[in-house]
Amino acid sequence: MDEDPIGRIKNITTCLLSSLPAGIALVAAAKTRSPDEVQAVIDSGVRILGYNYVQEAERMYEVIGNSAQWHMIGHLQKNKIKKAVRLFDMIETVDSEELARELDRHCAIVNKKMPVLVEINSGKESNKTGILPEDAEQLILCMSGLPNLQVQGLMTMGPLSGDPEHARPYFRTTKAVFDRISQAEIPNVSMRYLSMGMSNSYKIAVEEGANIIRIGTLLFGERNS
Ligand SMILES: *Cc1c(COP(=O)(O)O)cnc(C)c1O
Repeated sequence: MDEDPIGRIKNITTCLLSSLPAGIALVAAAKTRSPDEVQAVIDSGVRILGYNYVQEAERMYEVIGNSAQWHMIGHLQKNKIKKAVRLFDMIETVDSEELARELDRHCAIVNKKMPVLVEINSGKESNKTGILPEDAEQLILCMSGLPNLQVQGLMTMGPLSGDPEHARPYFRTTKAVFDRISQAEIPNVSMRYLSMGMSNSYKIAVEEGANIIRIGTLLFGERNS
C-alpha cells in the first residue's frame, strides 16, 4: 500500500505537466476516481477533466465546479445529450451526423456554441466508436452547417496494445486526416486540436502531432476493475 496516495498523485501530475512540451494540453481521464484524487490533480495544475459518462461527470462537477474545464471523452448516448450540453465545455467524441444534429439542436435550446472534436476510428475496428478515416471529411462538411457546433479538431483512441509503438500508424492516419481537413478550409471549422495518446502512448502521440493527451492510469494509478 502506498502511504500517501494523494501526495503521490500530486507529485506525478506536477512532473508530467513540467515535462510536456509547450502547447500540449493534458486531460486527466478521471473515470472511477474519487473526489480527493481528482482534486489532487487540479491542485497540481491540471485544467481539464475528461469523463466517459455524463452522470459521473455531473457528480464530480458538484465537487470541482468551474475550477476545471470538462471534456466528454466517451461515447455520448442520445438520452444524455441534454445534460451533456449543459455540463461539458467540449465534446471530443462526435462520430455521426445524427449525433451532431441532436447536439446542435440541444445547444440551440441553451444558446451555447459547443466546441467539438470528431472521433476517428483509426484502427477501423468494427466494435469501436468513431467514424472511419475516409468518412470524416464528409461528416465535417455536414457539421460545418450546424450553427451551434464548432468543429475544432479530431480525437482518436486507436487499437489498444501493450506496445505503444503499435499505436503510431493509427496516430499517423489520424494526423493525415487532420491535415487534409485543415487544408480544405471548411467554413465554421477551426482545426486546432488533435486529441491522441493515453498513459502508455502519449509520447508517441505527441511525436505524431497530438496537442491534447488524455491520461488516467499514469496520474492516478491502476483502476480497480
Ligand atoms: C480511460 C481513457 C483514457 C486514459 O487511459 P489511461 O490508459 O488510463 O491513461 C483516455 N481516453 C479515453 C477515451 C479513456 O476512456
